[in-house]
Amino acid sequence: MNTIKADVAVIGAGITGCAIARQLSKYRLSTLVIEKEADVGWGTTKVNTGLIHSGYAGEKGSLKLSLCHNGNMLFRKNAYELDIPIKNTGSLLNVFNQSQIKILEENLKQGKAHGLLGLEIISNKDGALKKLEPNISKNVIAGLYAGQACIISPYEAAIALYENAKKNSVRFMLASKVTSLKYEKSQKCFFINIQPTSSEHSIYGCEPGLVIAADYVVNAAGIYADEIAKMVGDLSFEIKAVKGQYYLLDSEAGELVKRPNMRISDPKTKKSKGMVVAPTTGNNIIIGSTYEDTDKNDFSTTKKALDEVKVKLGQMIENIPFNKTITIFAGLRAISNTGDFIIGQCQANKKFINAAGIQSPGLTCAFIISEIISDQLKEAGLKLEKNTKFIPERKRFPKLDKVNFKNNHELFARNSSYGEIICRCEKVSEAEIVNAIENGATTLDGVKFRTRAGMGRCQGGYCTLRVMKLLSKKLGIPIEKITKSGGDSYQAKIEMD
Ligand SMILES: Cc1cc2nc3c(=O)[nH]c(=O)nc-3n(C[C@H](O)[C@H](O)[C@H](O)COP(=O)(O)OP(=O)(O)OC[C@H]3O[C@@H](n4cnc5c(N)ncnc54)[C@H](O)[C@@H]3O)c2cc1C
Repeated sequence: MNTIKADVAVIGAGITGCAIARQLSKYRLSTLVIEKEADVGWGTTKVNTGLIHSGYAGEKGSLKLSLCHNGNMLFRKNAYELDIPIKNTGSLLNVFNQSQIKILEENLKQGKAHGLLGLEIISNKDGALKKLEPNISKNVIAGLYAGQACIISPYEAAIALYENAKKNSVRFMLASKVTSLKYEKSQKCFFINIQPTSSEHSIYGCEPGLVIAADYVVNAAGIYADEIAKMVGDLSFEIKAVKGQYYLLDSEAGELVKRPNMRISDPKTKKSKGMVVAPTTGNNIIIGSTYEDTDKNDFSTTKKALDEVKVKLGQMIENIPFNKTITIFAGLRAISNTGDFIIGQCQANKKFINAAGIQSPGLTCAFIISEIISDQLKEAGLKLEKNTKFIPERKRFPKLDKVNFKNNHELFARNSSYGEIICRCEKVSEAEIVNAIENGATTLDGVKFRTRAGMGRCQGGYCTLRVMKLLSKKLGIPIEKITKSGGDSYQAKIEMD
């Protein structure tokens, strides 16, 4: 039996697990992250609006509300340090009748009490809102503007944290599913059994029968966090999955909105932050989402739900070009039975720390949660000695200028494979794809999320085979073994030219 030893094992490499891993890399520890998917950020982290909330919304007394505003500020600081794509857009929460103005006023008051700046109610009567957001509908009578809200790229945030944590000596075991774990009192250690989810052991390093022996465990397993907690005897909470469905519009939809515009949620679905039309950092428009109880494997999209999104948001923003839709998709919120984040030592074993029920604004709170988790580990007895070699910064690999190719001369001069365009829609060069693979992409989706190759209008029609050839060459495996997203998602057998 092959055993790997670690001071701390983090289960789950979503934004929460990756932020915790990077936080722990500030100390002299051996930290190991275990993730069942072939890449980081492929759970809920890759399917959300990407809004870093300002922190006015939420139930009084909840952890979600109390952490959100500081979470926002910490996210911004770290986004610059880690070169995470970010746009300071602000946000609008829009209402349709006089009685809803009261809700805006309550949110304004709550926000101010939490120290938010740049928060104001803007009326649509005198055209002020229309000036701010030209496509806002006449149906909207006012909006709560939150100047501190911003948008980021959530999966690029997870990738940035992964790269930086790895640089600071954190180990990641991807395509490795935790199947059971128990605490051995005599050895004062958790034994975690993991199973490979890919047969490409040479790429991911997880062999059948591998065991991780860890002094402390952090549970950041998203919608499965309750099942991981049960393995150590913690039955104190349940997680249910609540689905949100989205449209993504082509960048041709242009400046439909300048910032996330939320439609105030219906009293029936008050738990959701409301449907939204928002720009993305990649210049697309994201439109969604629904709030549907479902099971943990249900990522289906339905016409009925997407039609509801179309109607409701069409009442808020005029002329939404749904004919520019390039993809539709669904994500699952991890909703705990307490309705709040569950962060801290578990009662069954204080060396087992939960970061569970991380629903919205979980993305916003990733960095603040990571700080709380390291404090909790310290309280549970973990020695936190400063890592004097910690490197806080990480830089993105330079991308081609998509609009003005003249600006790319310097890049061509530095690396001639910038001149080889692999993805025409998104103008992605061979240099960028090779860099993505060298930095951890092992699949088509891994390349896509790092470079945008395959994200454009043709959705990979032109570049898929070209990216597969590069993956095969760089990873040293046959092209038939290249997958879309790990596991057995092999691409159809291809006749090579
Ligand atoms: C529709 C929607 C919109 C949202 N919008 C926003 C927003 O605009 N702003 C905001 O702040 N928040 C938003 N959120 C919330 C935010 O997306 C989440 O809070 C955040 O992504 C949670 O990250 P996580 O790392 O905790 O979970 P995940 O990203 O789900 O990560 C958990 C990881 O654990 C892994 N895992 C599970 N079981 C195992 C196992 N047995 N072994 C190994 N690995 C395992 C999974 O594969 C997964 O990668 C939204 C959520 C949804 C669904």
